[in-house]
Amino acid sequence: MEEYDQINAEDFLNKITDKKILRDVITQTFFLNCGLHPKDVSSLFFLAYCNSTEGINNQFHKNTEGMQQFIIEGGLENVKSKLTQIIGRDSIVPISEISEICWDDYCIGMKTRDQYFFANKLIYTLSETETNNIKFIPPLSDEKNIISNNLVTGTLKNFQVVYERPFWQDKNLSGDVYVMNTENKNGPIGICLNVSKAEEETYLLTGLAEQDKNKNEILEQLAFYLGSEALNPTEYVESKMSLFDQRFPQGCASMNCFECIRVNDERIVWASPETATNWYGTISGSIQAGLNGTIHALHDLHPNILSLDDIEIISPNEIVIPTRNLDVFSSKWQILIPTILLSIFVVVNLKKYLSKKSVNS
Ligand SMILES: Cc1cc2nc3c(=O)[nH]c(=O)nc-3n(C[C@H](O)[C@H](O)[C@H](O)COP(=O)(O)OP(=O)(O)OC[C@H]3O[C@@H](n4cnc5c(N)ncnc54)[C@H](O)[C@@H]3O)c2cc1C
Repeated sequence: MEEYDQINAEDFLNKITDKKILRDVITQTFFLNCGLHPKDVSSLFFLAYCNSTEGINNQFHKNTEGMQQFIIEGGLENVKSKLTQIIGRDSIVPISEISEICWDDYCIGMKTRDQYFFANKLIYTLSETETNNIKFIPPLSDEKNIISNNLVTGTLKNFQVVYERPFWQDKNLSGDVYVMNTENKNGPIGICLNVSKAEEETYLLTGLAEQDKNKNEILEQLAFYLGSEALNPTEYVESKMSLFDQRFPQGCASMNCFECIRVNDERIVWASPETATNWYGTISGSIQAGLNGTIHALHDLHPNILSLDDIEIISPNEIVIPTRNLDVFSSKWQILIPTILLSIFVVVNLKKYLSKKSVNS
C-alpha cells in the first residue's frame, strides 16, 4: 500500500502502460471528472477512486451508464427543491456559517454567527478541508488534521457560450469538444458540450477550462475546433468561483492516515463526502456518506430501530445471527420421536412377555 502512496498517479500510469494514447485518455477523463491531474494525487487515491466508480471503464462519458448517469438534469437547485419537498420546509433550519463545534460528556454544541445548537450527536457532512475553518473544542486528532491537509483541490472553471445560430452544424460537427491530448494542448479547454435546445432556439455550449485562462483563449480554442464564428458569441458567462469552491471533489496527495477518516469521535459521526466509497465526488457518493453517518448515529442512539440491511451497511460481515439454544424438544425430532415410540413398544412388549411368562410358570 505504502509503495503505491509514494508515487503519484501519473508515474503509476507510466509504469503500467507504455501506450501514450491510453495514458492521455485516462488522464483527461480523470481531469474532467475530478478536475485534477494524475500528477497531483497519489496513485493509491487514484486506485481508490477507480474502485469507487466500480472500475475505470465507468469513468468514460460514453453512455448513460457509468459517470454519465450522475449528470443532474435541472442542476442542483432542482435536487434541493425536491429534497425540501420530501423533508418538509418546517424540518429544515437554515443557518449561517458554522464557526465552532465543541462537545463534552453531556452534549455537543454547534455555533454559527448568531445561533447556538445543542444535540446528543452531530453528523458532520461538510468537506474534510472545511474542518480547517471550524474551531473544534477539544481539538481534532492528529490523524484528522493530516487527512484534511493531504487533500488537494484542482483548478478548473465552468464557462457557457451562447450563439445566434448553430454554425458548427454547417461543417457537420456536433458541437461537442473532448480534448484528449495532454501535451502541446492548444488551449485551456478540457471539455465543451453542446447543450443547445433547438426548439427554444437557444444555442449554448458549456464546458470546463483551466481556472487562470481568459475568455479570449477559450474562444480561440473553440474557433480552432468549430470555426471562426466561435469568436463572436452573443453571450459569454464564466462562473466566478472555481469548481472546487462549488464543491468539485477533492483529491488526495497522500492517503496517509486516510483509514482513520471514518473513526467517529464520541459525539461526532464523520460523514464527509470524502468518506464515500462508492462514486466518490458525485451526489451519489455524498448521499452514501450521509446515509452511513445517519445509520451510525442511530446505531449509537437507538439501535433497536435499525434493520439488518442498515447494520449490513455500516458493518458488513459483522452480522452474527446467534445459533439457537437447542433443547430436547427442538433437537432432531425426526430421530427423537421414533426412538420414544420404539422404546414404548419395546417396554410394552417386554412387560407382556414377562407377565405371560409368570402366568405360565
Ligand atoms: C459545476 C458542477 C457540476 C456538478 N455536476 C454534478 C453532476 O452532474 N452530478 C453529480 O453527481 N455531481 C455533480 N457535481 C458534484 C456535486 O455537486 C457534489 O458532489 C455534491 O454537491 C456534494 O454534495 P454535498 O452535500 O457533499 O456538498 P454541497 O452540495 O456542496 O453542500 C455543502 C453545503 O455546506 C455549506 N457549507 C460549507 N461550509 C460550511 C460551514 N462552515 N458552515 C455552514 N455551511 C457550510 C456549503 O455552502 C454548501 O451549501 C458537480 C459539481 C460542480 C461544481
